[in-house]
Amino acid sequence: MPDLQTYFRTEHMPTIWCAGCGHGIVLGAVLRAIDRLGLDKDRVAIVSGIGCASRAPGYLDFNTLHTTHGRALAFATGLKMARPELKVVAVVGDGDLAAIGGNHFIHAARRNIDIATVCFNNEIYGMTSGQYSPMTPTTKLATTAPYGNLERNFDLCELAKAAGATFVARGAAYYARTLSGLIEQAIKHKGFSLVEAVSQCPTYYGRRNKLGAGADMLEWQRTHAVTAEKATGLSREEMADRFIIGKLYEAEAPEYGEEYGKLIERLKGGR
Ligand code: SF4
Repeated sequence: MPDLQTYFRTEHMPTIWCAGCGHGIVLGAVLRAIDRLGLDKDRVAIVSGIGCASRAPGYLDFNTLHTTHGRALAFATGLKMARPELKVVAVVGDGDLAAIGGNHFIHAARRNIDIATVCFNNEIYGMTSGQYSPMTPTTKLATTAPYGNLERNFDLCELAKAAGATFVARGAAYYARTLSGLIEQAIKHKGFSLVEAVSQCPTYYGRRNKLGAGADMLEWQRTHAVTAEKATGLSREEMADRFIIGKLYEAEAPEYGEEYGKLIERLKGGR
């Protein structure tokens, strides 16, 4: 069992996360992945934006950046370009990544820059008290959708793949070991990687949609997550409120930082 204490700034504990929140489980999956990879803490940078998930770097004893709303990937891109030797991991919420940060997200994916992004997807804006996000499913209730969300939610993984990400996976807090394995692969992968981590927010999303406590929401994840293989045998109706977990896509493509380095060398050589 890894001693995760060594990765925390314990003087900043306890976390602000509510009882039953899934974010601690997802963060544990990130830390176990880093631990298994044997990465030096000083060679890892954790970058976040704003939101419940984005509080994570404040508790962690790595190089950390807690930035502005939606801009985690913009800061992470600058950091990776300036310090290419660092392993850069972005921890972001769904609202942060897919709404205000949406443009940074698709362009980081398009460049295939070597950043591992873990999206803590609780399907809502938690920190600002439960507004609907681009990941809130249609018909679900939110502070700003008291009669049900009219919008269609993104499939974040499909969006990442279409934009050019070269590693895409989805996991869930309930399946924490699988999730951690996917995050490990994402960190190891050369290029832009996304792991969507389905998490639970009992305080706002769960309470408003009468989904019960954190444990009930974890049970929902247990019964609604399916592998891609199992999904092929299910009808569209049967898949309606289920979600696929596992590695969804992997490809090789030139990585932006390396290409930039080659360009610099070429220019130095006068070519
Ligand atoms: Fe977690 Fe929701 Fe509480 Fe935020 S508001 S810490 S997402 S349970």
